[in-house]
Amino acid sequence: MSKISYKQPIAELQGDEMTRIIWDWIKEYLLDPFIDLNTEYYDLGLVKRDETDDEITKEAALAIKRLGVGVKCATITPNEQRRTEYNLKRLYPSPNGTLRAMLDGTVFRTPILVKGITPYVPNWTKPITIARHAYGDVYKATDCLVPEGAKAELLITDKDGKETKFPVHNFTGSGIVQGMHNTDKSISAFARACFEFALSAKKDLWFGAKDTISKVYDGRFKQIFAEIFDSEYKARFADAGIEYMYTLIDDCVARVMRSSGGFIWACKNYDGDVMSDMLATAYGSLAMMSSVLVSPDGKYEYEAAHGTVTRHYYKYRDGEETSTNPVATIFAWTGALAKRGESENNIALVDFAKALEKATLSTIESGYMTGDLASMFSLDGVKPVKLNTVDFLKAIAKNI
Ligand code: NAP
Ligand code: MG
Repeated sequence: MSKISYKQPIAELQGDEMTRIIWDWIKEYLLDPFIDLNTEYYDLGLVKRDETDDEITKEAALAIKRLGVGVKCATITPNEQRRTEYNLKRLYPSPNGTLRAMLDGTVFRTPILVKGITPYVPNWTKPITIARHAYGDVYKATDCLVPEGAKAELLITDKDGKETKFPVHNFTGSGIVQGMHNTDKSISAFARACFEFALSAKKDLWFGAKDTISKVYDGRFKQIFAEIFDSEYKARFADAGIEYMYTLIDDCVARVMRSSGGFIWACKNYDGDVMSDMLATAYGSLAMMSSVLVSPDGKYEYEAAHGTVTRHYYKYRDGEETSTNPVATIFAWTGALAKRGESENNIALVDFAKALEKATLSTIESGYMTGDLASMFSLDGVKPVKLNTVDFLKAIAKNI
């Protein structure tokens, strides 16, 4: 059998710990035997980031911009404990933060549904995709303690030096205050990424915020979404047979719970942080969640939603066998390969990506899976068998 090839490389970003090990195994057992992998390789492992003063992360982001498609392994975001463990020169920022800032992207997370793993919300028969705005709000806020008797005001100095003050609060006792921001540019990019993604997935888009309380701030989000939708997307949505709906975030949550899934839920940064963990848990597992960062100019970076699975890595390092779930990392690869296939009209490559996803799910549905799934698997007539990671990958390879 001849291997499938394609023209333009994919940016390949390898990461840390257990997911770094699984990365190589996925290539060895599931990709190399079938595909002439053509990648531009960036080692985002913490050792290399430290060696290059984190320049490698920026180079990788530029490569995704240039090549249009990237695939990323989970990476360590260093803290004090990691600084000691890896003897780091300094505490580097989160690679995902750097990539999101450079690509100005929106993160889309979709649960991977499989028979035998039942969502906690039984009416969710189709996946719900969360679209999380990845810039600003409380993630770029300044906050401080306020002493008793102080007055807090918001001061805006325009480019000519003219000052405008807005009262926040006159404190009789002590308290707290926080200042946060967003930009029209980033909100517009978020809106376009959501509309584009809805069109490509052919799914309805819901957006929830709180403009009744946060009239100017959340009102600005609502207004920008409405303006861009009316001027650029209304007709295209109608042609595709899909809808855009804005509703208050609390009403949105109630509708989500009653729904059967199958739509995209756009969330402001903080709402997206909270709601994506709720959804991942409700659908079964973080290891069964695909994730893609989409930039407003149509660049795609695929990743797993979980971390580097440190606890399993320490066991692996001590020579123990682990049963770490590789599904989200496999789907990062299939997402990237299918996107590259689409961009080159390469049907064989798109079909391979689909076949690998199908083989992965059918392996689980036939009873062979990693330990995290085996403990919650329930399907009539199928007895779950827990495999270690490599045996699970070999079982998938047999099914392709
Ligand atoms: P984690 O790596 O997601 O793992 C937390 C726990 O969730 C694991 O100990 C394991 O539970 C379970 N789990 C996660 N993924 C799994 C998988 N594929 N298969 C089986 N079980 C899985 O989160 P963490 O331990 O909080 O973070 C570890 C490192 O990852 C940190 O250095 C953090 O900075 C980094 N991180 C990176 C990303 C990213 O790059 N996207 C995201 C989050 C965290 P059990 O131990 O009970 O088996
Ligand atoms: Mg979170």
